[in-house]
Order: sequence, then C-alpha cells, then structure tokens
Amino acid sequence: MQKELFRVAVVGGGVAGSSVALYLSELGVDVTLFEKSKSLVSGPPICHLHAGGNLYRDISDEQCLTLLKESIELIRLYPQAIDYRPTVIAVPKEDSGSASDLFSRLELLQKEYKKLIEEDAANRVLGDPELYYKLFSYEDMLALKEREEVTHPQTLEEWMIPLSHHIELEKLQYPLVMVQEYGINIFRLGATVSLWLAKNKNATIFTQTEVKDVKEENGRFLIEYEQEGECKEQVFDYLINAAGFRSGEIDDMLGLRRERLVEFKAAYVTKCEAFKGSWPEVIFHGERGTPRGMAQFTPYPDGYFQLHGMTKNVTLFSDGLVKSSPNSAQPKLPPLFLSKIEKGWSKEAVKERTSSAIKHMSQFIPVFSNAKIMSQPLYGAQQIPGEDASLRAADISFEGERYARCEIVKASSVLNMADHIAKSLIGLGVLPKESYKKRDFSAHSSLKEEDIQRVAESSAKSRSYPKSLANRCFRSIDV
Ligand SMILES: Cc1cc2nc3c(=O)[nH]c(=O)nc-3n(C[C@H](O)[C@H](O)[C@H](O)COP(=O)(O)OP(=O)(O)OC[C@H]3O[C@@H](n4cnc5c(N)ncnc54)[C@H](O)[C@@H]3O)c2cc1C
Repeated sequence: MQKELFRVAVVGGGVAGSSVALYLSELGVDVTLFEKSKSLVSGPPICHLHAGGNLYRDISDEQCLTLLKESIELIRLYPQAIDYRPTVIAVPKEDSGSASDLFSRLELLQKEYKKLIEEDAANRVLGDPELYYKLFSYEDMLALKEREEVTHPQTLEEWMIPLSHHIELEKLQYPLVMVQEYGINIFRLGATVSLWLAKNKNATIFTQTEVKDVKEENGRFLIEYEQEGECKEQVFDYLINAAGFRSGEIDDMLGLRRERLVEFKAAYVTKCEAFKGSWPEVIFHGERGTPRGMAQFTPYPDGYFQLHGMTKNVTLFSDGLVKSSPNSAQPKLPPLFLSKIEKGWSKEAVKERTSSAIKHMSQFIPVFSNAKIMSQPLYGAQQIPGEDASLRAADISFEGERYARCEIVKASSVLNMADHIAKSLIGLGVLPKESYKKRDFSAHSSLKEEDIQRVAESSAKSRSYPKSLANRCFRSIDV
C-alpha cells in the first residue's frame, strides 16, 4: 500500500517561510506555501548581514557568535544575494562609549571564524580570517586622504578612502574599525529563493493567497484561504507559522498564547552624486532612541544610499513598539502604521522622514546634505519573540508536535530555524535521521545570474523602488 503523503503548510513567504519551504522541499518534503503578497520576500527590509553583530553594542557576546555562525551559513545558502563589501564602525567623540569597547569582541569573533574554517574550509566566506577586522588610526585616515577614491576597491585601505575624504574625521574617536560584515540584497534574495523554489516539484507556492483561518482537527490543520477572490480550504499534517509580524494572528486563530513584541521601523532611499569611489557600509554609533542615535549608511550602486537613524524622527517611531496581551498573541500596531504597511506612505511623510535621515547623516558626512529623496522608504514591522526588545538572535518555538512558529529577528537565523523544524519532522518519522543539518544546497549554482537579475529588477520596479537597488555593489573581496 502506498504511504499517505505527509503535507506541510507554511503561512508567510518572507525570508523565513520561503527559506524553510526551500529547505524542506529540497529534503523531499511536500510543502505548500501561502503568501498574500505578489512576490516572496517582499516584507520589511534586509540590508545588513550581521556577521558578528558589531552593529549592536548592547547584545551579549553569545548572540554575536551566533550571528557570525548563522551569517556564514546564510552566505553559503544564498551567495548570489550577498553584497561583498565591508562595514566600518565609527564611534563619535560625543558618544559615551569608547572605540576600544569593541576590541575584545572582535578578537573573539575572529577566533571563532578561524575555528569555523578549521571545521569546514567552505566556511571561509568572509575572506582571510586575519583580515576579519582591521583598525584605522587618525594618522592612517590622514594618509588615505592623499589618495584618489577608487571605483573597484581591492584592499581594505582602498575601501576606506571615501571616508577619509568625506567624513568629519575630527568628530570621531579612533581607531575606526573595518569588519567583514557584508550587505544582503533583499530583491536578489527574493529572486534567488523564488527561482529556486520554482524548480522544486515538492514545493507548491501560492502568492496573492491569504490565509483567513486555521483550525486544528484531530491533529491535522484545516487551512481556509482566499485566492483570486475565491475561498478555498485544504488539510495539512504540519503547520509552520512564518507570518512575520502577523504571526500572532495565526496563534489567535488556533487559540494559542505567545508573548511577543512587534516593532515598526523604516529606512530611507536617497541618492548622492558627490562621490567618485565605492563606499563600504558605515555605522556611526549612538544611543538608540536619543537624537544622537546610531546612523547607518548603506551603499548601493549608481550613487544610491539607504539610511537608518536610530532616532525617533528617522527609523524609530513613538508608539512603534507594541506587545502582545493576555487576550491576544498579536501585538496591535496603531492604525497609522498598518495603513503605511498596506497602502504606502504619503508624499509629505516620505519627504519629512527622509529629510530628517539626510540631516542626521550629514552631521558626519557634510556633503551628504545635497542628497536627494528617491522613493518610498524601505520599511515594515518585525516581530521579536518574548519581551526583550534588544534580542537579535532568535529562531523558532513549537506548540505540540506539529505546529512551529518561525521567530527570526535577523535573516541570518533562517537555517538554524529550519534545522529545528527538520529535527521535529525526524521525530515524527517524516524525515530520516540523516536529514538533520544536511546542508547540500549546491542546487543554487544551477540558477542563472541573468534570471536572478531580471526577477530582482522586476520586483524592485513592481514595488516602486529604483532598479539600482536590485543590483549588487561589485565583488572585490577575496572570498
Ligand atoms: C527597517 C528594518 C530594517 C531591517 N534591517 C535588517 C537587516 O539589515 N538585516 C536583517 O537580517 N534583518 C533586518 N530587519 C529584520 C527583517 O526584516 C525581519 O527579521 C525579516 O523580514 C523577518 O522575516 P519573516 O519571514 O519572519 O517575516 P516577513 O518578512 O514579515 O514575512 C512574513 C510574510 O507573511 C505574509 N503573511 C502574513 N500573514 C499572512 C496570511 N494570513 N496569509 C498569507 N501570508 C501572510 C506577509 O505578507 C509576509 O510576506 C529589518 C527590519 C526592519 C523593519
């Protein structure tokens, strides 16, 4: 007698849901993914791969080590989505922290990176471990000022030249730290995972399909969904809730309680043609939530820059952080934010916030005050499980044997998350034991660059973002 097919449903096609659908379908599991938007990975932005968590001074060393390991795994999974350029961390003089505060953590991370390479040479995706980070003194910066900016930097020094020319060197503490934390391009990530899933016969992907209700009946899940104006239903053996900041809605449908936070945030799309060379990403540290909050400068090709500013008039919003209640697992965002998520921003709001972002950045890069506003912000709401708003490395929780919640805070946690789900399916006898942490994702090499580029550009265009945001800065680091 033929064994009955074990059917897995994934609700939500962000980076979490798409990646777990990919992971399980590659292992031979029958997966159906429901995504209400037009395309996969079209939720809140993802631009920085936290390969060491150096952006976050306040998190534990343990979280940083987890982020490093997970980021290496993510690069191996989605190499086509990575922007191979370093990040510079600068501490302003007026900040209460010190540039040297990062040193011991950087050493720890470097040691861990070496260890990961010893365990598996294929982990050497952040370049030479000796160059995982490099320090630049004030004198180094003055010397670099004498050199021309470079469009294709080949060394860490060449990447640093634009900073020596354009940032207010006197406002910063020294040394500056350059670290191999790369960028990740959300449009290319969405294109890669969509094209890859389309090749897999075990995966059924429903976009523009909204899950309206979920009921548990005799250990199975009845999913009611709306597709092309019609209400339909299907029964599944296992449910993965990957609904992002709306995960609490699925919990509520099932009558389950869960503590979580949801935070609405935004980053701004600008263009500045004052520079000749290619920039690394730059972080100017600052105290979150104050007018001096951290400023993050993320380069894209063709003079585009994405800006974050951890102040209440740039990236953060008053009332933007909400928590679940004893009656509902879904934290309730104020209607203003939900309307932004569903319908977009008014022109005035884009202008007001992007102008504040440009002003915030110009205190460190004066010529940036000439930058132009280019499009709607990159924005959205993200969930944080529990009640610690500073948690950055999180992955999954389970309720019973057949219901998993994806609870990542950073994109890099997706493989760790998927491993836990595979383990739970092994426990149910759906997957063989050997499937655990089986990471043969070589199939990505069959994806064609021109297809990824085409799908990424079309996704940027359909979401009204400049085409350049779908392009990578070129690859120059020895990886
Ligand atoms: C401003 C900002 C900047 C950020 N920058 C970074 C960064 O640089 N690096 C990083 O790693 N992370 C970053 N993050 C966090 C990152 O965006 C999130 O952690 C990540 O998107 C979470 O992925 P997800 O798949 O869990 O959720 P989402 O991406 O939100 O995906 C959930 C999906 O579920 C779908 N869905 C929900 N309900 C239903 C339903 N009923 N039926 C069908 N579909 C449904 C939604 O349409 C959505 O597509 C940032 C977040 C913000 C807000």
